[in-house]
Amino acid sequence: MQKLFKFSLAILLSLVSFFTTQPSMARSKKMKALILSGQNNHNWQVSHRALRLILDQSGLFQVDTILTPAKGGDMSKFNPNFEEYDVVVLDYNGDRWSKPTEEAFIEYARRGGGIVVYHAADNAFAQWEEFNKIIALGGWEGRNEKSGPYYYLINGIGVLDNGAGAGGSHGAQRQYPMHCRNRKHPITKDLPDNWLHARDEMYDRMRGPANIKDLLYSGYADPKTGGSGREEPLVFTVDYGKARIFHIMLGHCGESLANNPAMQCAGFQTLLLRGAEWAATGKVKQDVPADFPTAKSTSMRRGYKILQ
Ligand code: ZN
Repeated sequence: MQKLFKFSLAILLSLVSFFTTQPSMARSKKMKALILSGQNNHNWQVSHRALRLILDQSGLFQVDTILTPAKGGDMSKFNPNFEEYDVVVLDYNGDRWSKPTEEAFIEYARRGGGIVVYHAADNAFAQWEEFNKIIALGGWEGRNEKSGPYYYLINGIGVLDNGAGAGGSHGAQRQYPMHCRNRKHPITKDLPDNWLHARDEMYDRMRGPANIKDLLYSGYADPKTGGSGREEPLVFTVDYGKARIFHIMLGHCGESLANNPAMQCAGFQTLLLRGAEWAATGKVKQDVPADFPTAKSTSMRRGYKILQ
């Protein structure tokens, strides 16, 4: 009897210790994210902070930010340790990195690293062939037919177009409907088929190796507002060996955190968080938030809760 009591006590104590250690276990299980910024033809001073707030406030990520030297600066000391992270979020469009840093980034991708390509990060490094395989499609910076085909949809089917012309353009900023192209992917699961994105640019006529793995969302680049007149790929994953790469062309940064509609859109934030979790782990455990946009109305998160 006494033996049974001791045995039960041992189980009880181990259960107590199991539950009391949960908070620290939960903390240590946060995914490690690195936001990489510091040069961009966009307002990176705001965008990297907005990205950080979105990731921090989800409670899912432990986030570091690293900024490169300014344009023309000494890149030899810019050596992020990519291997420390589950996901690297690219908010960078600027000078080439040092050769060792570029090689370390490719190695990180090759060994199965997680990468988020955010908005103008796909303008970067037009001449770096391996980087262009990581983004699949890019724009501007001299891209043309030598960079690879255009990729767009005709009647819902992806087509490659080798026609001559510049890579990368966009019409006027506007609200626009997002069209789901894959309902079964962990990132899009349970999200509406069509939803209205808050005021943003819509990238079009992007070119590259076009090694898209799963196209998740497209949008119609309406010629009435200066678009290509094509159904354009806007959110997708990239086929690059073992890497998990999430490319989101949305999110043109506004003038301040408070005036930043494309990044304040609950749809953008949801996709960013789901894409980052998928890139980090291959799974998505997040529920659809109650304020997700609908087919008829946008949904903006007015403020960022500053966590300091
Ligand atoms: Zn932009």
